[in-house]
Order: sequence, then C-alpha cells, then structure tokens
Amino acid sequence: MTNRVVLIGHPVAHSFSGAMQQAALDALGIDARYELWDRLQIDLADAIAELRGEEFLGANITIPHKEHVVPLVDRLTEDAQATGAVNVISREGKKLIGHNTDVPGFKVALDKLVGRQKMPRHAVVLGAGGAARAVVHALITDGFQRIVVFNRHLHRGEGLVRHFGRSAAHMDLKAMPWHESVLEAELSKTKVLVNATSIGMILGESPIPAELLPPDLLVMDLVYNPSQSQLLKDAAAARCTTMNGELMLLQQGARSFELWTGQHAPLDVMQAELERAREHGLRQLPIDMGPSGGEGTPAAPGASGGAPSGGAGDGSAQPGRAARPSA
Ligand code: NDP
Repeated sequence: MTNRVVLIGHPVAHSFSGAMQQAALDALGIDARYELWDRLQIDLADAIAELRGEEFLGANITIPHKEHVVPLVDRLTEDAQATGAVNVISREGKKLIGHNTDVPGFKVALDKLVGRQKMPRHAVVLGAGGAARAVVHALITDGFQRIVVFNRHLHRGEGLVRHFGRSAAHMDLKAMPWHESVLEAELSKTKVLVNATSIGMILGESPIPAELLPPDLLVMDLVYNPSQSQLLKDAAAARCTTMNGELMLLQQGARSFELWTGQHAPLDVMQAELERAREHGLRQLPIDMGPSGGEGTPAAPGASGGAPSGGAGDGSAQPGRAARPSA
C-alpha cells in the first residue's frame, strides 16, 4: 500500500512543502505520496476526518487553517497547545495528534538571523494568524521582554494577546492598531521585525511602506515564495539584515517528516530540493481542489520568484505570479 501525506490549506499550489517532502520520502525509499489538498474552511472537518484512514501517515496544515484544526484533533502536543495552532498532524492508530513545528523552525531561523549579536529583547510582529502565534510563542520562550503585534483586524491581534495572557504575564505583550504613525514609533524602538502576514506572497506588495523601516533592523519575512518579498527588498535597501522563510520552512518540514516516518529527515536532500524549486519552479504534484472546485485558484506551479536569497534590494523583476492569499 502506498502511504499518503497531505498538505491541507487554501491556497496550496504556491507551497514548496510538497516538492521538499516528496524528495525526502523518495530519498529514503519510503513508499508514500505527498498530495496538495486545496480546501476551504467549510470542508476542513471532512478532510481531517479522512486522515484517520490507514494509508495516511499524517498531514501538514497551512494558511488559513492552523487555528481551525485545533478542535478537530484528538490530542495536542505542548507547542500546539501553547500556540493554539497546529501545522502538523501525525497518527497514533486511529487518533490524530496535533503538533506545532513552526515554533522550533522559527527559533532556528531567528538564531541565524541574529548571528553573533546578543539575542534582542524587543520585537514587532505583523500578523495574528497561526504563524504569528508560533512566532510570538517562540519569542516569549526565547526571553523577549516586549512584543508588539500589529494586525489588519485588531480584534484578532487582541485575541492572540489574550491567548498568551498567562505565559506572557512576566513581560509586555500587546496588540496595537495598524496605523502608520504607531508602527513607525514602535519600529524606531525595536530590533526585530517579523512579517507573519501572507501579504508578501503577492509580488510587489508589502505590509508596510519602505520609508517606515529604520536602518539596522533584523527583518524576517516568513514568506519564502517569492524568495525576496517586497518587504525584504525594501529592508535591504534600508540597510537592514534580512531573511526569508526558507530556513524556517526547511526546519519545520524536517521535524514534520520525522513525526510521520520515525526516521531522520535527509536535510541535505530537502535543502537541495528547495533550492531547485526556487531556481527552476515547482515539480507538478497532484493538487486536489476538493469539493468546492476551483474557487480561489492558486498560483501556477513555478511561481517561485526569481531573486536569489540574500540578493534583496536588487530590484530585479520577479518572474511568475504569486498566490493571492485568502484574506
Ligand atoms: P493565516 O491565514 O492564519 O493568517 C494570515 C495573516 O495575514 C493574518 O494576520 C491576516 O490578517 C494577514 N493578512 C492576510 N491578507 C492580508 C491583507 N491583504 N492585508 C493585511 N493583512 C493580511 O496564515 P498563517 O498565519 O498560517 O500564515 C501567514 C504567512 O506565513 C503565510 O504567507 C505563510 O505561507 C507563512 N508561513 C511560512 C512558514 C515558513 O515555514 N516559512 C510557516 C508558517 C507560515 P487578518 O487577521 O486581519 O485577516
């Protein structure tokens, strides 16, 4: 029996996870197929129920479902419980276990971004979805003393702050309204800026105007496709240190792989496949658009953006088109 692993989200076609995970499964000779399931929220419960079938090793969960999946699994691991968001599901018999490997994945990426400097204590986080929850949890447990969350819909940012009420009781975690003057004031006081919104997936669009970026910020955009989002280009032009979401993707993906297969993830194979996808576009994987058909048609495979990572600020044209995130 060929086993199955699926990525459930909306959209999914822009994702590099499929290519990366299939390459890892093939490299270890594991008879399993990674599939992309494009599902609207209304179809999520059915999709999760299907995972109880014997042929499934598990699943990745992506935008916009990471929080909605929480009540649909049987047990949550500590990071999933703490964040209230699930990005990986594994199976124990008929039971589904919800994990959050975005948290350790983000920590590895943040350590690399910070480099030899002392770990900063103040961060601005853009976004309040599933990814932002993983980022905020990682920052709290890394000892940050002040985290300010900006989100388009303020109430969701406030919900995130309430969720972390207890674990953040010793520090200053707050949600602020998304006004440029407020953002500018916070950015002038911070050292780390993390974009955990999906805005950068749209070519040329940035969550914040370039002129608000002070020099010397450490800027991470969780978006990895395109590899150089507009925010990262603007930040590099403002002499900030930048990083896209590729290292986090690799690290969360390696941990996902280990949860499904019980084997060490072949990091070099996964890294090479990410580089290949970035440079040559995505390999075709089966995309199941689900019961709702083609609504919200995602990006064409191959819309990986063209600029090499670290080459931000070069203003190079980005080939292909990016997926329009569901807002
Ligand atoms: P969610 O759908 O849970 O959250 C999306 C977030 O983006 C919300 O804060 C939403 O704001 C905001 N947003 C979306 N569209 C707009 C818009 N037009 N204007 C302003 N804000 C907008 O998604 P996730 O949190 O799961 O993912 C967010 C991003 O992080 C995605 O691009 C995803 O690919 C990336 N990611 C990368 C990872 C990696 O390994 N590199 C891991 C996880 C995520 P609102 O609440 O107001 O709608």
